Amino acid sequence: MSHSHNVDTHHVPLLDIVGENRPLHNEILAAVREVFESGRFLYGPAVTELEDAVAKLSGSKHAIGCASGSDALLLALMAMEIGPGDEVIVPSFTFFATASAVERVGATIVFADIDPVTFNLDPAKVQAAITPNTKAIIPVHLYGRAADMTELQRIANEAGVQVIEDAAQAIGSSHRGCGVGAWGDVGCFSFYPTKNLGGCGDGGMMTTCSDEMAERLRLFAAHGMNPRYVHRVVGINSRLDTIQAAALCVKIKHLASWTESRRQNAATYRELFTDAGLANDITLPSDDADGTHVWNQFTIRVPAARRDALRTHLAEQRISSEIYYPIPLHQQECFRHVNYIPGSLIESERAAAEVLCLPIFPELTIEQQQRVVNGIVSYFESRKASAA
Ligand SMILES: *Cc1c(COP(=O)(O)O)cnc(C)c1O
Repeated sequence: MSHSHNVDTHHVPLLDIVGENRPLHNEILAAVREVFESGRFLYGPAVTELEDAVAKLSGSKHAIGCASGSDALLLALMAMEIGPGDEVIVPSFTFFATASAVERVGATIVFADIDPVTFNLDPAKVQAAITPNTKAIIPVHLYGRAADMTELQRIANEAGVQVIEDAAQAIGSSHRGCGVGAWGDVGCFSFYPTKNLGGCGDGGMMTTCSDEMAERLRLFAAHGMNPRYVHRVVGINSRLDTIQAAALCVKIKHLASWTESRRQNAATYRELFTDAGLANDITLPSDDADGTHVWNQFTIRVPAARRDALRTHLAEQRISSEIYYPIPLHQQECFRHVNYIPGSLIESERAAAEVLCLPIFPELTIEQQQRVVNGIVSYFESRKASAA
């Protein structure tokens, strides 16, 4: 056993990006160096290589690199010509970018509530939110678990509206044997460093099975320009840097084994929490019987009155945790005009008050997981002791 003076061996981080990259250090730097020496910083061969790899992984015909997951969502809406007067149904319990993209193109955000077990869009609530002005639905595969794409796609087909999958947290995940990103009209991925496939900065990708949509997405991501200096539509400048793609090409080869480690860590938590007898105090996230959960986050529910105190207790023991997300989007100041009163999306509000995300990254050790579980046990024991 090694005891380095500078390493805090008791700290359980939420994520270990440096640790994940360390074994690939030389390989990533060699790939970056190759791009540097080629001078092809944009549209280099590594971008095409990564596009092919992501298309294959999701089971889509095409993948198109762009600058971020947020841009992927924006570009999908632009390519579908969604704008003023159009309604787009999104969850409120998600990252900001899912809804801000809708606002950015001038369309109307329509929030639908989530299923309390999966944390994903509740198809019945989506069905109820459809109007003649609905143009698209954006299901989010939150925490790495695929939304109920069977039902959502059926509702969308029946209503004649498009589906944009926000798969930013779910690369490699699937529903009923079909990869996320291949279910909807467009799939949106992010390579933000904390995602399951994280770059060395920002990056994103869009997937589609339609040749026409692929061409439009590429056009909109390149100033609507084709050929050079001929602008057919008003697009934006959103590209995946070749340097990012080169690093990601090295990393994507390890994604399956990292995902396997995340799944193993989730199974280990389930055993440890069950052995600890915490069933009455917290609710564990369930695995997905209809697909492959890739566990970007392992999110427990804690009674709202206890959640923040538990988080503080864990922090005192050098155990990191995070709240994704503390304020549902319909309660954000910038979306006040969307006009949702408190209580209108009851499950989203309850989730925001109860969720706590625990470390689940691939390099997490069983000792660290035991420390997390012990930390939660000791919180509830100390509460029971003080109540007795
Ligand atoms: C991270 C994330 C995004 C945005 O991706 P960026 O690459 O950071 O722009 C969008 N939606 C969800 C659900 C995300 O988690």
